[in-house]
Amino acid sequence: MKPLNSGGNWLRRFATRLRLGAFLSDSKITESATIIDSTTITEPAANFTQKLREKYPQQSPISDEQLIEAFIQKNPQYRVTYRGITPVSVSWSSELSVLVTDQPAAAAGTATVAEDSTETTADAGEEAAHSDTKQRIVAGGVESENDRSERMRQIASLLLENRPQPEDWGEISNFKDGGCPKKVANQFLICCLLDYQMDANVAWQNGIRLVKEILGNPEDVWQEITKFPRHEWASKSKEHNIHRFYNRAHDRLWRVSEVMCNGYDGNANNIWVNKESSVAVERLRALGAGEQISNMIVGALRDCGQVVGSSDVKADVHVCRVLGRAVHGEEINPNAAIELARQLHRDDPWKLDWPIWNVGTTYCKKSVPECSGCYLKEDCAYALKS
Ligand code: SF4
Repeated sequence: MKPLNSGGNWLRRFATRLRLGAFLSDSKITESATIIDSTTITEPAANFTQKLREKYPQQSPISDEQLIEAFIQKNPQYRVTYRGITPVSVSWSSELSVLVTDQPAAAAGTATVAEDSTETTADAGEEAAHSDTKQRIVAGGVESENDRSERMRQIASLLLENRPQPEDWGEISNFKDGGCPKKVANQFLICCLLDYQMDANVAWQNGIRLVKEILGNPEDVWQEITKFPRHEWASKSKEHNIHRFYNRAHDRLWRVSEVMCNGYDGNANNIWVNKESSVAVERLRALGAGEQISNMIVGALRDCGQVVGSSDVKADVHVCRVLGRAVHGEEINPNAAIELARQLHRDDPWKLDWPIWNVGTTYCKKSVPECSGCYLKEDCAYALKS
């Protein structure tokens, strides 16, 4: 799919003229929508764009895809489902509906841009709106959906600017063109399986120590583990000391080893090589890697060029804290963090993972965040409220 920013100046002006409000009863947009559950509404993309076209007939030469992109770019709380590059449906919270209006937006504190405005005028309007948002947050006022969308756009943009290229995932990073040796792939998977609820560097050091020193760098590490009966392997957990939750982590490795031997011929490459990210993540979850670790593994494999497609962030404590504080002013749960990352960068949420983790480990400490040094402070709800 082409970059979201393509589309020209009119897209900026058009998107700026769309306003959100709590107008669920407004029939312009909801009459053909379906309520999926208590919080989600979905509508076929064709219906959605048709209503936008009725309101903005002057934009009729452009494609449905461009129309939806323009709207979603400014309103990331709306989700689009694609089949290939074709938008299929649009979903949003039942607490929101769309009011497409020609009315000036000043009352809602948003910028209003005339159809013949220059891009410079649009920029000035958006700047003013953004500044108003911050003042309202500082004053403890209610932030409009449009204001929040603009702040979220800034947060996403800052995070992406601070993403390193390329990210280093150890030995496996050396095999971007394929041909990753079985031993390297297996060691990578073991390190990832240990990388939860403890310092990541220590977890990876423990994984390498287990494979190379404790087990002697065998050709098939999974067979080496399962050659011990489960209870015997469990009895070694304290001695091996590979995780702060040594019993549980140790036992999980044995269970995963059994599946690796029986289902993947003892080679982690067989889980993901030549697979789409969605397939790889499902296989890893079925293996027992857990939802968040599976997301991290697939993201890392994508960074290493071994899996294609988009993927979610690993919603660990840092991601939940940083995203929650930055957007809502308080920590959020893993499911909400995954959803929020999708809203911030729907093309590929994983691209936000490292910069969020980095902010979390550098500035956004659990007890006292060091906002003065953090590059998100100008747009972070927590920092603005504080
Ligand atoms: S500005 Fe402060 S609260 Fe916000 S993300 Fe940065 S460190 Fe965390």
